[in-house]
Amino acid sequence: MSFLNPKYQDLTPYTPGEQVNEQEYIKLNTNESPYPPAASVQQAVVHAAQKLNRYSDIAGESVAKPLARYLGVKQEQLFLGNGSDEVLAYIFQGFTENGIAFPDVTYGFYQVYSNLYQVDAKIVPLKDDFSLELTKYKKTKGTVIFANPNAPTGMYLAPEEICDFLERHPDRLVVVDEAYIDFGGKSMIPLINQYRNLLVVGTFSKSRQLAGARLGFGVGNAALIADLNRLRFSLNPYNVNSLTQAVGEAVLQEQSYVDQKIRETIQVREWSKKKLTELGFEQTDSQGNFLFAKHPKLAGEKLFTALREKKILVRWFNQPRTKDHLRITVGTQEQMERLVQALATIIKEVTV
Ligand SMILES: *Cc1c(COP(=O)(O)O)cnc(C)c1O
Repeated sequence: MSFLNPKYQDLTPYTPGEQVNEQEYIKLNTNESPYPPAASVQQAVVHAAQKLNRYSDIAGESVAKPLARYLGVKQEQLFLGNGSDEVLAYIFQGFTENGIAFPDVTYGFYQVYSNLYQVDAKIVPLKDDFSLELTKYKKTKGTVIFANPNAPTGMYLAPEEICDFLERHPDRLVVVDEAYIDFGGKSMIPLINQYRNLLVVGTFSKSRQLAGARLGFGVGNAALIADLNRLRFSLNPYNVNSLTQAVGEAVLQEQSYVDQKIRETIQVREWSKKKLTELGFEQTDSQGNFLFAKHPKLAGEKLFTALREKKILVRWFNQPRTKDHLRITVGTQEQMERLVQALATIIKEVTV
């Protein structure tokens, strides 16, 4: 017998990308930064550890203040979470009474949270080229959520189209998950004063070298943020621990390091796109820190396995529309050169 409430017995949990020994593998499967955080960020942990006997600051002031300033918002318009996944969880828990709608090809957690919180979820297919068409959401009800740039496609939707939807549907909450916005595109954050129904989610995991620290945020009008805090204080007021607050604060003082690494990633991304095209891959014009590519002569699973044998780990999603695609995190230039070499070898083997 099971002690689990039957309503949870059919839950299909999120499948994270594998974490592996990096001595052995080139790890291009979870969209982390391939670069370590700046030295001062590492030192901040040691310093903060002296105070681990105390509970963390529930307002996360030392991060919230400089982050609000950096984003150009008021502190009461900013919510901090244990990774943006936690922010998303509160959104699915609290803001989906009338249901939620999201694309068929997008971040896997949207479906997982819909199941967990038993939300009525409408899946709206992307167009054939994987672009997102917001007018298709007119027929749905309740909240709308999508990632911009989207994952795993890397496709980016211009703010004008989102604004148009926000204006036409003032009674519907629109959540824009901007996990990858620093790698391409314009953030919607400056528009939160204009739209009370806009909630933007961001993270320190992808562009700020802090995936392991778990620091995410939500930005929206003060009423939305107060409601998120009501949920947070009803579950876990200390959701962002003091070590994470310390590294978050330190990262915000290293903006030039962060910016430099973003520029590097974009450069390596564009170089890699070109090389993959030369190898015959078809790709989206990804604006994230990853590529989304398929080869006309090789099934996705086969490519994934062949790369794995060569100790290169990428992400493959076994789903109807994406099963021939790979999502490849942009690593360092050296890592991507090895990837391109490995792909060239694999392709040669099957096409001779
Ligand atoms: C990685 C990712 C997240 C989660 O990031 P964390 O802040 O590490 O929880 C959220 N949304 C999208 C689209 C992502 O790719």
